[in-house]
Amino acid sequence: MSISTAHALLRVALPVPLRREFDYTCPLPLPAPGCRVSVPFGNRSLTALVLSHPDDSDVAIAKLKPITAIIDQIPILAEAELKLLAWATQYYLHAPGEVYFQALPTLLRKGETAAYRSSPYWHLLDEQAEVSTQAIKQQQALTLLRQGPLSSGELQIRGISGAILQALAKKQIIEKREQVPVPNDWRDTALIIAQDDKPRLTTEQALAVSVIQGANGFTPFLLEGITGSGKTEVYLQIMEAVLQAGLQVLVLVPEIGLTPQTIARFQQRFSLPISTLHSGMNERERLDAWLSCRDGSTAIVIGTRSALLTPFARLGLIIIDEEHDTSFKQQEGFRYHARDLALLRAHQLNIPIVLGSATPSFESLHNAASGKYQLLTLSQRPGTATVAEHVLLDSRHVQMHAGISPQLIELLGQDLAKGNQVMLFLNRRGYAPALLCHGCGWLADCERCDAHFTWHRSPSRLHCHHCDHQRPLPPACPQCGSQQLIGTGLGTEQVEQALTGLFPQYGIIRIDRDNTRRKGSFAQHLEGIRNGQYQILIGTQMLAKGHHFPDVTLVAMLDADGALFASDFRATERFAQLYIQVAGRAGRASKPGRVVLQTHQPEHALLQDLANQGYRHFANSALQERQAAMLPPFSFQALFRAQAPDANHVQSFLQQLVQQLQPQLPATVLCLGPLSAQMERKAGQYRYQLLLQANNRRELAGACRLALALIDTLVSARKVRWSLDIDPAELW
Ligand code: ADP
Ligand code: ZN
Ligand code: ZN
Repeated sequence: MSISTAHALLRVALPVPLRREFDYTCPLPLPAPGCRVSVPFGNRSLTALVLSHPDDSDVAIAKLKPITAIIDQIPILAEAELKLLAWATQYYLHAPGEVYFQALPTLLRKGETAAYRSSPYWHLLDEQAEVSTQAIKQQQALTLLRQGPLSSGELQIRGISGAILQALAKKQIIEKREQVPVPNDWRDTALIIAQDDKPRLTTEQALAVSVIQGANGFTPFLLEGITGSGKTEVYLQIMEAVLQAGLQVLVLVPEIGLTPQTIARFQQRFSLPISTLHSGMNERERLDAWLSCRDGSTAIVIGTRSALLTPFARLGLIIIDEEHDTSFKQQEGFRYHARDLALLRAHQLNIPIVLGSATPSFESLHNAASGKYQLLTLSQRPGTATVAEHVLLDSRHVQMHAGISPQLIELLGQDLAKGNQVMLFLNRRGYAPALLCHGCGWLADCERCDAHFTWHRSPSRLHCHHCDHQRPLPPACPQCGSQQLIGTGLGTEQVEQALTGLFPQYGIIRIDRDNTRRKGSFAQHLEGIRNGQYQILIGTQMLAKGHHFPDVTLVAMLDADGALFASDFRATERFAQLYIQVAGRAGRASKPGRVVLQTHQPEHALLQDLANQGYRHFANSALQERQAAMLPPFSFQALFRAQAPDANHVQSFLQQLVQQLQPQLPATVLCLGPLSAQMERKAGQYRYQLLLQANNRRELAGACRLALALIDTLVSARKVRWSLDIDPAELW
C-alpha cells in the first residue's frame, strides 16, 4: 500500500445508475458511514454517501482519488437505515447509489446542510380570537394553528387555502413569520385524545385491537375489512398505546389517498405533531418533514410510498392502508415495493406492522393463508350502515345514450329525486378514445405510439395518453378531406355532457386527471361533493379510493368489459379490487346503496362471483387458478425490459441475452421471451421484454445475477435502454 498514513479508504454510493460502489481516499479521521462527502467523478463533482471504511480496494490504491470535502460531521442515516438500504440493493439488484439516494430528500442529494432553516410559518397572533361561526374554514385554520405554527403547504394539505389565510391575516388574527422550526419533544406533553369522537368498538374491531396490542415485537397483521367496516378506527386505537409510549407511527397511504379528510381524522384524535410526506410538497417542506421524522419531533407521519424510506428516531408501528394499491410499487428507477420493504423494516426494528384493505392483494392473502401474516377480519359495518345491493345490467341490444342505458337513466333519476347523490365511473378521460373519419375510416393515430389519439373537447385537442403528445384537432380528414370527423367510444367528458342534458336541474362534477391538475383543486371538488353542491359525480378511479360520501346511494360502472379480456394475468385481480372499491362508495351511511354494472357479459363468471359472492370468494378461486398455473404468488418473477428507437436493436439484444443465458439456467428457472410489449411502440421507442420465473427466490436472484453479468459483456446492450424489475407489478 502506498497510501500515506494520514489517509484511509472510503467506500461510497454515488447517484449514478451503475451497479457498483466506489472507493476514494480520505484524510483521517474518516467520516462515519451515513455521512455525505463531495467527490470528483469524471469531470464533475458529486455528493456521495459513505457506506464503509474498507481495508482494501479492487482498484489500485494509487489510482484512487481523494474526496474533496466532508459535508456531514454526524451521519444523516443511522446504521439500521443503511442496513435496510443495503438489503434492498441486494434484493432488487439495483444500482446502490440510486437506492441510497432515494432515501434522501432532493435538497440533501444536492449537498444542502441537514438542518432546519428559517422559512415562513403562519402564527396565531391572538389565542382568544374568534371568527364567525359561518366561516368554517377560518375556524378550522385557527384550530390547527392553536397547536403551533404551520407552513402554507402544511395548511393546504389540511384543506386550508391561501385565500382563507389571507383573510385571517387581514383581520390581524394570524401572521406569516420567518422561523426556524425547533424540534419539540412531544413526549413531555400529555397525550390528549379526543374521547368524545371515539366510538364504541364493534366486537370484531375490539378483537382486532386487542390482538394487535398484544403483539410482542415483529408481527405482521392483515386487517381484511370491507369498506366502511371501521379499519381506520382500528388504526387509531392501536396507535394510542404506541404514542403513549413515546414511539412514532408511520401510516402509508396510496398516492391519491392523502386528502385533508385523512389527515383531519388523525389530527382530531391526537393533538400531537403530524407530518405528511408526499409528492406535492416543495423541496424545503420535504426536508423539514424528513428532519422531524429523524429527530423524533413528529409523532405521526402520513405519507405515500417514499415515506417508508425516511429515517425515524423511534418508530413503533407501521400501518399500510389500502395495502393492495399499486402505487406502493415504484415503476421506474429503483423499482421497490413499499409494502415489501415495510415488512423488512418492521422485522428489523422488531415492531408490529398492519396491512389493511377491503380487497387484499393476492400476495397478502397467500401470506395470511400460509401463516406468515396473522389475519384479522372485519366483516360488518358498524351501526346501521348496510352493504350495497349489486345489479348487473345487460348492455346487449340496448340503445345506449352516451354509454348509459335507459334502465340506468331511470335508476339515476329515482335516486336523484330522493335527494341522494349518484356516482358514475369510467376509467377513460377525454371526450372519446378515438377520432374517426366518417368518409373514409381514417383514424387519428399518435405518430409516436401504437395508439389512437384521445379526443378532448375542453380544451379542444387530440391528446395521446401514452406519450402525452398533443396537437390541435384537424379541420378535415387529412386522407379524404371530409369534414365529418366523429368520436368513437366513450370518455368522461362525454358522459358529463350527456348527463348535463338529461338532468339539467342537478349539480354535476367530473373528477379525473384533467380537471384536478391545479394544486388544491381535487380537495376543492371533494369539498363541493361533501357540502351538497353536486349531486351527480363522474370520475375515473381517482374517485373510487377511500372517500366518504354519506349521501351517495348509487354507483355505476359504465364499462366493465375491457378488464375481462386483458392479457396481463393480474388484470382480473385489479378489476375486482376496483369494483369492490367502487361498490364501497355506495350506502356508507344509513341509506341503503346500489351498485350497477353495465356489461355485455352479464354471465361472466368473474362478474357473477363478485356481485353475488364478494371479493374473498372470487380471490380464493382466482388464487387456485394461479396455483395451478404456477403464477405469482406461487412463484416469483423478474422482468428485463428493453427499448430503443430501432426495433432490431432491442430484439437482437434480448435474443443474444437469451441465447447465452438459457444454457446456463437450471431447469427450474423459466425464461420466456423476448416478448414484444402489448403496445410495441410507445413515445417512439420499440419495447420488448424477457420474463424469468422460478419457484424460489434464491434461484431467481441467481438467474438475474447471471443475466446482469452477461449484459455487461454484450455490445448490443449499449444500443438500448434496459432495466430489471424484481417482482414486477405488470408486464409491458
Ligand atoms: P374503513 O377505514 O374500513 O373504510 P372507517 O374507519 O372509515 O372504515 O369507518 C367508516 C365509518 O364508520 C366512519 O364514519 C367511522 O367514523 C365509523 N365507525 C367506525 N367504527 C365505528 C364504531 N365502532 N361505531 C360507530 N361508528 C364507527
Ligand atoms: Zn377521411
Ligand atoms: Zn403517443
